Amino acid sequence: MDLADKIIVVTGAAHGIGRALVYAFAAQGAKAIACVDRDGDGAKAVAREINGLAFTVDVSSEDEIAAMIAEVEDTLGPIDLFCSNAGVFAGGGAEAADEDWQRLWDINVMAHVWAARHVVPRMIARGGGYLLNTASAAGLLNQIGSAPYGVTKHAAVGLAEWLAMTHGDDGIKVSVLCPQAVRTAMTDGFEDGVASIDGMLEPEEIAAACVEAIRAETFLVLPHPGVLDYMRH
Ligand code: NAD
Repeated sequence: MDLADKIIVVTGAAHGIGRALVYAFAAQGAKAIACVDRDGDGAKAVAREINGLAFTVDVSSEDEIAAMIAEVEDTLGPIDLFCSNAGVFAGGGAEAADEDWQRLWDINVMAHVWAARHVVPRMIARGGGYLLNTASAAGLLNQIGSAPYGVTKHAAVGLAEWLAMTHGDDGIKVSVLCPQAVRTAMTDGFEDGVASIDGMLEPEEIAAACVEAIRAETFLVLPHPGVLDYMRH
C-alpha cells in the first residue's frame, strides 16, 4: 500500500513509537494524520509539526474511540490506515493487582477490539482498509517477567490474526507489530533486563520497518529476528 495521500489515525501518538510512526507517515506524504493520545498537549505538539490534527482520547473508553473515529471521518475523510498503538506496561505475575490486569486488558486489548468494531465496518463498506495493531515480542513469547503485559499482548496478536483471517476477503489488511525492546519512556530502566538479549531499537527504526511492511502488505511485523532465536532456546 502506498502511503501517499492516505488518511491515517495513530493512537499513542504523543510519544515513543506512535510519535515516530506519525513522522514516518508524514514523510511518506500522507494526506492527513490524526494524532490521538490521552496526553492532549503531547498530541498537539506532534500534530503541529506535521500539520495534522490532535485528538485527546483515552483509548480505555469505547465511547471516546467511537466518537474520535466519527469525528476524524467527518473532518478529514475516510480512514485508510488505523494504527492502534497506545499501550501500557505493568509488572507482576498472577498476583498482580486486579486493577493492573483490568487496565492492561482495556488498553492493550479492548482498545484494539473497539477500534476494529467502529472502523472496520466503515472500511468494508468502501472496499477495504489497513489496520496496524501494536502488540509486542512479548505477545509471541512472554519473556519479560510480566504476566499481565505478556498475556494482553498475546491477546492482541490473537485478535490481529482473527481480523486478518476473517476480514481478508473484505479487503481488510492487518499487520501486528511485535518489536523487542525499543528505547521509549516505557523501557526506562530496562537496559539490564530483556533489552540485553538483543539491545534496544530506536522508535525510528520500528517506524521505518512499519512503513516497509505496510507498503509490502506483510502480515507480521517483527523487526527483531533475534527474538525468534531466543524462542527456540
Ligand atoms: P510510550 O510510553 O513512549 O508511549 C505510549 C503512548 O501511549 C503515550 O503517548 C501515552 O500517553 C499513550 N497512552 C497510554 N495509555 C493511553 C490511553 N489509555 N489512551 C490514549 N493514549 C494512551 O511507549 P511506547 O514504547 O511508544 O509504546 C507504544 C506501543 O508499543 C505500546 O503498545 C507498547 O506496549 C508497545 N511496545 C513497546 C515496546 C518497547 O520496548 N518500548 C516493545 C514492544 C511493544
